[in-house]
Amino acid sequence: MVNNMLVEYTKSTENIVKAVEIVKNKYYCVRCGNNDQSEFFIDDFGIYCRKCLNFGKSSTYQKIWRKEIKIIFNESYCLKKVVNLSNIQKIASNKCLESFKNKRDMLLYAVCGAGKTEVVYEVILRALNLGNIVCFATPRKDVVLELVPRFKRDFFQVSIVALYGGSPDKGKVGNLYVTTTHQLINYYQFFDLVIIDEVDAFPYYNNKMLAGFIKKAKKEQAPIIYLTATPPKYYTNLIRRKKIDHFIIPNRFHNHPLPIPKIVLTYSTAKKILKGNCPKKILLWLLKKQQLSKRVFIFVPKIEIGIALEKILTKYIKCRFVYAEMKERTQIINMFRNNKIQYIITTTILERGVTVPNVDVCIINCDDQIFDERAIVQIVGRAGRHPKYPFSDVVLFCDYFTLEIKNAVKQIKKMNKIAKGNKNEMYNM
Ligand SMILES: [Zn+2]
Repeated sequence: MVNNMLVEYTKSTENIVKAVEIVKNKYYCVRCGNNDQSEFFIDDFGIYCRKCLNFGKSSTYQKIWRKEIKIIFNESYCLKKVVNLSNIQKIASNKCLESFKNKRDMLLYAVCGAGKTEVVYEVILRALNLGNIVCFATPRKDVVLELVPRFKRDFFQVSIVALYGGSPDKGKVGNLYVTTTHQLINYYQFFDLVIIDEVDAFPYYNNKMLAGFIKKAKKEQAPIIYLTATPPKYYTNLIRRKKIDHFIIPNRFHNHPLPIPKIVLTYSTAKKILKGNCPKKILLWLLKKQQLSKRVFIFVPKIEIGIALEKILTKYIKCRFVYAEMKERTQIINMFRNNKIQYIITTTILERGVTVPNVDVCIINCDDQIFDERAIVQIVGRAGRHPKYPFSDVVLFCDYFTLEIKNAVKQIKKMNKIAKGNKNEMYNM
């Protein structure tokens, strides 16, 4: 059965619009913004948009009810200060407040481990205390699940709505929405401030449809704060052209520098591992960690390499392989977090988010194209985050040097230089 009425929540005037319109003889999907004619298909009743089909059909025979939501503003917010910020975090926080006040978009470029979430607390509070509706969006469901308990603890007087595929909060009303970028499809001119975490992460990065959802979900004048540890060129170009404000936090929260990765050449690595042999240099490095009782992230480029490596290594050490499609994914990650296994072999799914103290990191086959500059910087950023264990051993094992490896190391060194006070480097983004 076809649902003839789609719903979008709005803070502007309530109305009903067509879901797919014909503009100048061309189809246009009002819900997802698609106007690529090759993405429209015919069914028994009319024309539908295939681009947003995952969210349910949007078609010429359906309407969107833009339903006005009344939100009660709790006058008693005035929250006490919930976090202690370092000096540079304070400056960054003030910069966010300034951009919000001037209704300017802004990019906060903070190295992995700088504590960028805490930096936006003040601006979230300011907006909430003005009676605004705030959206904290992230491309990944894992991040929503990790952030919501933190936000509920720190913004304990605020009604927080968590949105992701299958979330029980769907349709609930609140003041602070923590959501995947996908879920914003259901909002129209709703938010007064949008913060997007990890703008360079899959699937948001280079995805026009998701960027369109954000544009639609926020009020026209509402500013966006973009957060990233590895800004894509698109944003640095906007900064150069002064289209958006920006601020850089080159220091980690604990003020120790980012670890500089060592590069170790190995030969025919993938081939050897797939045949059941682990290159000696890699094996020796891993065994050394066993004596030091350090936990180790082992990144691999492909699932088959991970499976083969797990088979080889279990003869020597306690390790598990984890990848995206795996059923026991969360379980294995938690075992690693709780120190039940010392080594975790993983694809790039763990390049962000999971933080473990006292950890060393290596990438195997770092010359594979999946490890681009930003992925390498993110992976290196897993190391040395905890103030008690700020120093880590990070090794990039590769068959040969790539430009991406070179640029990633350059990028890390540059941030450490800026953090040390070399301000000349700062504006050469
Ligand atoms: Zn569509």
